[in-house]
Amino acid sequence: MVIGLALGIIASNATAAQKDSWSIIHAGTLMADARKAPVSQQSIVIKNGKIFAIRPGYITGADLSGAGKVKIIDLKNDFVMAGMIDSHVHVTMQISPHELEKGVTTTSSDYALIGAVYARRILNAGFTTVRDVGASSREAIFALRDIIRKGKIPGPRILAAGYIISPLGGHGDSVGYRPDVFGTPSSAICNGADDCRRAVRDQIKYGADVIKYVATGGVLTAQASGTGQQFTDAEQRAIIDTAHMSGLKVAAHAHGKGGIESALRSGVDSIEHGSYLDKDTVKLFRKTGAYLVPTLLAGKTVVDIATKKPGFFPPSIVAKAKQVGPLMSHALNLAYKGGVKIAFGTDSGVSVHGINGQELVLMVKAGMSRKDVLIAATVSAADLLGRSNIIGTVEKGKSADIIAASGNPLKDISTLLHPDFVMARGVIAVE
Ligand SMILES: [Zn+2]
Repeated sequence: MVIGLALGIIASNATAAQKDSWSIIHAGTLMADARKAPVSQQSIVIKNGKIFAIRPGYITGADLSGAGKVKIIDLKNDFVMAGMIDSHVHVTMQISPHELEKGVTTTSSDYALIGAVYARRILNAGFTTVRDVGASSREAIFALRDIIRKGKIPGPRILAAGYIISPLGGHGDSVGYRPDVFGTPSSAICNGADDCRRAVRDQIKYGADVIKYVATGGVLTAQASGTGQQFTDAEQRAIIDTAHMSGLKVAAHAHGKGGIESALRSGVDSIEHGSYLDKDTVKLFRKTGAYLVPTLLAGKTVVDIATKKPGFFPPSIVAKAKQVGPLMSHALNLAYKGGVKIAFGTDSGVSVHGINGQELVLMVKAGMSRKDVLIAATVSAADLLGRSNIIGTVEKGKSADIIAASGNPLKDISTLLHPDFVMARGVIAVE
């Protein structure tokens, strides 16, 4: 048994050596790090899904000692950069006029399968990593994350929260159902600090990479209770401390000013949406070093639906959508000018999956420089996700997550709406 095992290891090592996979991208323009100026005519050498080297000029396999067959990828006419990162998505769902009905008819298997379709669309749009901040089935999102990680199906790298931690009757609870049909099924509903610690640990137990909770009410819950604070300060501190103790970061859904500030005071890593932040809030952001994830595309989407598609949302949601949606770009502008750290995030799933790049355009419209938008979608999002060691720049040793566009996004950001080329962990998804 022991001998067999040892031989097995030797055999698999020998196979791995023979099967090293090499490719070289010839990049006309390479923006290896969004904080620095792009450089022209570079070669990115990729070995087994990781960046092996970056060399000036266009080299070939003959210039690499020890490499066998090398695939040359010609992007000489393109602008090449790191794959983008969407810090706020819901991969397994996409809103429809039948949300309440879906809540009792959709199975975990349904969510996993449709999630695989959506994941592919997001990847094709140039996003090689996403943070899934809440699924209707954590079984589905964790399974999807794991099978993509194994390379069995194409998709972006997923960091997943599992269920959203919410108070009873809060934005993450199943509100609007008859209690005998759909009461409180989720282990992520909690009340009081101790119970909230339990809820966080329950997500960790089943595989969460990050913790997401609702600090305030939300737009898309069928209740008229608004967007004010929903968890007490003590509950929020319990959630955040418990997650941090296990090395997990915490994202707080927050619209109202009071709720945003209580989350910041409690030590949260990112505020999602941040609609009602003001100058005082900006100061608090800077003091704590938390990120804002602005989700402008979600704001635009709910306003568009509420005004153009009567009957899609119930009246309580229409009122909130019209009120909150338009605030988000103003909030981003205030935060940006005030020096708040900003990480790219769309809330894709509210918008349809695959148009995630539109957030880039909206961020520029809200007053950010194109360079800062590109930093938010790469370097900063990688930092927020705690994955700067593997993603966010095109750099030796990092994952070969690389995209290319025909134009220069530093001059016209919309060129990234349709990437020419997408590679995730060394595997080509679009070319
Ligand atoms: Zn969301």
